[in-house]
Amino acid sequence: APRIGVLALQGDVLEHLRALRRCGAEAVEVRTAEQLAAVDGLVLPGGESTTIGKLLERFGLMPLLRERIVDGLPVFGTCAGMILLSDELDQDRAQPLVGGLAVRTRRNAYGRQVDSFDTALEVTGVEGGPLDVSFIRAPRVEAVLGTDVEVLAEVDGHAVVVRQGRLLAAAFHPEVTGDDRLHAAFVDTVRQVRRAP
Ligand code: GLN
Repeated sequence: APRIGVLALQGDVLEHLRALRRCGAEAVEVRTAEQLAAVDGLVLPGGESTTIGKLLERFGLMPLLRERIVDGLPVFGTCAGMILLSDELDQDRAQPLVGGLAVRTRRNAYGRQVDSFDTALEVTGVEGGPLDVSFIRAPRVEAVLGTDVEVLAEVDGHAVVVRQGRLLAAAFHPEVTGDDRLHAAFVDTVRQVRRAP
């Protein structure tokens, strides 16, 4: 089985491990460079992107993670993880980003009234009807900056699922509803990369 890490510095780690295991992956927590070096794919979970970014720097994981992404490591970022993967943020205050995904993202893009909501979302490439997902103080993509970025789902005209090569990002939490189809798609990508690196 492909060995897929979940970055376990802060955030919604356990639910991702479970979803990945239900999809047939060997799922492991990643907190150290040794662990990061040993995975075939990585999930950046939801949580607080400022905290996760600072901890990535403090634990010295940022250079290795960026290097592995450049080398083609499949990464699935959800919510805070999507923020961290973004090349740019739509805010004045700087925060540490991993980058690699050519989009500009806005944090907490849904106002107070709709702070958090569950919805069923059509996602390109996901068969079997709309995906059940949960938006929790979610970001959204404000602008696609690269020609190789595919928009796979939108809410109100804004991209909420994007793919760029081996990078997949979703603005919501796909791991809390039990609808594992996006995790399954990511596990498939990791399997393919393992076969033909
Ligand atoms: N609002 C959080 C942030 O800006 C993300 C929320 C989440 O991951 N559920 O990092």
